[in-house]
Amino acid sequence: MFDVFETIAKLAAVHSPAGFETPITEVLTELATPYADEIRVDALGNLIVYRKADAVQDGDYAPKKVMLSAHMDSIGMIVTHIDENGFIRFSNIGGLSPATILNIPVKFANGTRGVVAKDGKVEIKDLKINDLYIDIGAGSKEEAQKYVSVADVAVFASETYRVGQTRIVSPYMDDRIACVVLLKVLESIRDSKNDLYFVFSSQEEVGIRGAKTAAFSIEPDVGLAVDVTSTGDTPDMKVPMECSIGKGAAIKVMDASLICSPKIVRTLESIAKEYEIKHQFEVLQHGGTDAGAIQLARAGAHVGAVSIPTRYIHSPQEMCDEEDVKAACALIGLFVANELEPKTN
Ligand SMILES: [Zn+2]
Repeated sequence: MFDVFETIAKLAAVHSPAGFETPITEVLTELATPYADEIRVDALGNLIVYRKADAVQDGDYAPKKVMLSAHMDSIGMIVTHIDENGFIRFSNIGGLSPATILNIPVKFANGTRGVVAKDGKVEIKDLKINDLYIDIGAGSKEEAQKYVSVADVAVFASETYRVGQTRIVSPYMDDRIACVVLLKVLESIRDSKNDLYFVFSSQEEVGIRGAKTAAFSIEPDVGLAVDVTSTGDTPDMKVPMECSIGKGAAIKVMDASLICSPKIVRTLESIAKEYEIKHQFEVLQHGGTDAGAIQLARAGAHVGAVSIPTRYIHSPQEMCDEEDVKAACALIGLFVANELEPKTN
């Protein structure tokens, strides 16, 4: 069985920012292969793992096509310029807040490590990405170029570790923890009444791109995204929000990319109640997820999302609760394997 901590530690250590998903694709392919009927990678780099319906249909229920989606890309940094003294300028891949990444460790794909620092005269409150540089310890441009070239990409170089009773901190909970959820659901499925497509999507962090083409090719009846969501449980939150870590799987109702199908929200809620799975509702004012793209593919699909409440999203230290991850796995497994009525809203 996939262990939550071991698997997130393994996946979060893989160097694969958006657009450079090959390394994480290879790791996920190896982990998913024993449970798959078919695996393919599409032109955008989405990894699509197909698990066909079992012959357990009652009456005239026709298997539905269900697309589960968790993005496997991460945010990162891409080199734009190396100056005469060997300091490396970069641009963001996805949402990076300059103040959040100041003084953090990063690593390039070849193992070169460095630290993010800022131009001396700039105040932290005025920081922009272009005021930051990566110091890899080189004494000159020539020395730096032995290790790093323009267009190389870097990611956070922090570790995955446990805190408290059941909480885990990791650089890329977003969204490798959802990849863990998809793997755990995939391995747990018995007697599925539906055709299941487990999509490890590409390029979510730069505008929900991979899920668009994946949904176009799969043409699902029902789509379910799994992602992290913000919480309102830390001191002095700017934006009020009910979600808390440790209070269960978050059933998404709305975010900036979609309003979930009421039917899907209600089905998820009734399963959670019937099986006593700890759950809460999510209304996220900013941010989006793959379900927003699935909903609008072709003639549209009925979609929902289950989120893992996570603190400090898009920092090198994202924190979630293992119990919420397990609740999400239980809820999603029951939802996708049973009869669905996608033709009514
Ligand atoms: Zn995400």
